[in-house]
Amino acid sequence: MKDFEYFAPKTVEEALPLLSRYKGEAKIIAGGQSLLVVMRQGLIAPEYVVDIKGIADLDYLAYDEREGLRIGALTTHRTIEKSPIVQKHFKALSEMETNLATIQTRNWGTIGGNLCHGDPAGDPAPVLMALGAKLKMKSLSGERIVAVEDFSKDLLEVDLGEDEMLIEIRVPVPRPRTGVAHEKLMAMQGDAGIVGAAVALTLKPGEDVCEDARIVVSNAASVPLRAKEAEKRLMGKVIDDTLLAQAGDVASEEVDPPSDVHATAEYRREMVKVFVRRAAARAFEKAKRMGH
Ligand SMILES: Cc1cc2nc3c(=O)[nH]c(=O)nc-3n(C[C@H](O)[C@H](O)[C@H](O)COP(=O)(O)OP(=O)(O)OC[C@H]3O[C@@H](n4cnc5c(N)ncnc54)[C@H](O)[C@@H]3O)c2cc1C
Repeated sequence: MKDFEYFAPKTVEEALPLLSRYKGEAKIIAGGQSLLVVMRQGLIAPEYVVDIKGIADLDYLAYDEREGLRIGALTTHRTIEKSPIVQKHFKALSEMETNLATIQTRNWGTIGGNLCHGDPAGDPAPVLMALGAKLKMKSLSGERIVAVEDFSKDLLEVDLGEDEMLIEIRVPVPRPRTGVAHEKLMAMQGDAGIVGAAVALTLKPGEDVCEDARIVVSNAASVPLRAKEAEKRLMGKVIDDTLLAQAGDVASEEVDPPSDVHATAEYRREMVKVFVRRAAARAFEKAKRMGH
């Protein structure tokens, strides 16, 4: 690995001037679970590394019945998984975290680092997209908010300026009768998903009619992908097993999966059918019970 100069700011106010001064030459490191992999592979070789892991102010979870959940960018996967607030109000998020990597990686890797790495196989982005979450970014020029849905641009490319930091993830309170579920195909527990699917379904009061649907598929395109045609297939209809299977079939036509050592594109397409259907079926059951 090429030598680099190392900084360890303790506040956002200390970190931002460093990113501005060394714009284009500096790289943020949080837990290092993804960054060090690409640095060791020689894919990137920053002159300056800004270690933000010590910024305690960005490690928090806060819930408000109106505003929803706010997650500091440096909150670890393990903290989210184990949080009673998340388990009570956003069960799908803690379920997703339980299947993400190993406990060691979850203990050190951060939700912000996961999103900023921009891996289309990442698990948090699809669930956050299904939940309609937004990101707060900050630089010396100010703050901006971007929907998680608009954040991924291409393989390992996200909408993040070279002098910007992700500060916070904001997850709105789901509407009543909304169920959210995440499913991923793993060769072994904790493996990156060969494909994954996150589904949020909202039902009409007192009926099994779909009022709103968000279906997001991971590792089946260069970015986490909303399967909008599959969503349309559910809207306004009474949900049953046949309809959910149709939604899976439609989603499998919308994706553009890669072939790699883990699976062929054809296999991934087949698995999108199965995993969208499964996630949607669980989301439906949760919605009927009013769960999130
Ligand atoms: C063995 C193993 C298994 C894994 N399995 C899974 C899995 O099943 N599912 C899954 O989703 N992920 C998996 N991962 C990926 C990993 O968990 C995440 O990518 C990790 O959480 C990244 O967080 P980090 O804090 O370590 O980020 P880092 O590696 O420190 O940073 C990653 C990228 O984000 C940038 N960055 C970090 N924080 C910020 C910020 N606040 N603002 C701006 N840019 C920032 C960095 O510059 C870098 O480009 C696995 C990783 C390993 C090592």
